[in-house]
Amino acid sequence: MELHSQLKAAVGELCRGFPDAYWRELDARRAYPSEFVETLTKAGYMATLIPEEYGGAGLGLTEAAIILEEIHRSGGNAAACHAQMYIMGTLLRHGSAEQKKQYLPKIASGELRLQAFAVSEPTTGSDTTKLKTLATRKGDRYVVKGQKIWISRAEHSDLMLLLARTTPVEQVKKRTEGLSTMLVDIRKSLGHGLTIHPIRTMVNHATTEVFFDDLEVPVENLVGEEGQGFRYLLDGLNAERILIASECIGDGRWFVDRACRYAKERVVFGRPIGQNQGVQFPLARAYANVEAASLMVAHAARLFDSHQPCGAQANMAKLLAADASWEAANAAIQTHGGFGFAEEYDVERKFRETRLYQVAPISTNLILAYLAEHVLGLPRSY
Ligand SMILES: Cc1cc2nc3c(=O)[nH]c(=O)nc-3n(C[C@H](O)[C@H](O)[C@H](O)COP(=O)(O)OP(=O)(O)OC[C@H]3O[C@@H](n4cnc5c(N)ncnc54)[C@H](O)[C@@H]3O)c2cc1C
Repeated sequence: MELHSQLKAAVGELCRGFPDAYWRELDARRAYPSEFVETLTKAGYMATLIPEEYGGAGLGLTEAAIILEEIHRSGGNAAACHAQMYIMGTLLRHGSAEQKKQYLPKIASGELRLQAFAVSEPTTGSDTTKLKTLATRKGDRYVVKGQKIWISRAEHSDLMLLLARTTPVEQVKKRTEGLSTMLVDIRKSLGHGLTIHPIRTMVNHATTEVFFDDLEVPVENLVGEEGQGFRYLLDGLNAERILIASECIGDGRWFVDRACRYAKERVVFGRPIGQNQGVQFPLARAYANVEAASLMVAHAARLFDSHQPCGAQANMAKLLAADASWEAANAAIQTHGGFGFAEEYDVERKFRETRLYQVAPISTNLILAYLAEHVLGLPRSY
């Protein structure tokens, strides 16, 4: 479609202003790509999924996926800002009319950043319904106590969507009940019960540990109904998986492009290394797998945009795309030999970055468990 090729070309052009050296330098300092995020926001791309009535572009997940893929394909990393695209969906689908009017136009214009989504906890991990952060209602406020881990971009966001227990697990019939989502105003909360500690990781991801020590959150910040938060979380997961999968496709294509370029240029034993089938075949296989995965990503996005069930396809898209990008990363580092490990070639940086998607936002095993249980009808293993 013309719109899609125009979008791709425009994002590609924007990304050319942020070349390899830009990302490499930030990576070395573990610094946030503020200038990139600002440029992307000003160009309106961060508001792709926000309906036009709230100042956004009113486009679909297919278009959002094209944007994220292109950023990754250019050698950049959209993890600095991708979350706003899918966190906003919870507010859009389940927020009150006042909340939408209050927040969405400001998020669309870039005046407010909704980049942090606080789900994971150190002691409960993938077993989300066991999370321990408790929000106890006291009059017109919730008092929040607990701890979250791996909360990315919290230092670069104005708002955080928090998933907390509002009814202790012992008092609910089903463990998926009694969880609620609420907006935490980070600016007002820091130093008043909210503490954020950065965690230095293998990738430049601005991730943090967050502590809630009797943090007061006004009841009007509750998104949707009290106790229904887990349902809202599930609602947003398909979008998240499809978008992350599109980033993996971008990574995969970047690895294959770079490796092929290098394989044509590097001459050893009197001929380009790319003339050897031992070098060609891993790249050809990686290419085939990236292309196949991209079809599943596009299929899942189309189903999502036409409001059809897409749980299985979104999970398969994430699984196949993350596997394909990781395979391409391995083929690219191998093709580059020693230079694959040199920072100035960027392969080692992208290699580290794409490895994350085997673990976050959901690990490969948990996707396989979903497919086995919910699609193939096998008995639940946990
Ligand atoms: C850089 C980074 C950024 C992140 N950003 C965010 C964020 O912004 N917000 C947020 O809420 N979270 C975030 N996360 C957390 C991420 O979603 C979790 O790390 C991920 O879901 C895995 O959970 P865990 O780390 O607790 O692993 P665990 O649940 O402890 O699992 C560890 C390993 O055991 C396996 N495993 C566990 N149970 C089973 C089972 N029943 N069957 C088979 N295998 C199993 C898993 O597959 C995994 O490989 C981020 C993580 C990282 C590393």
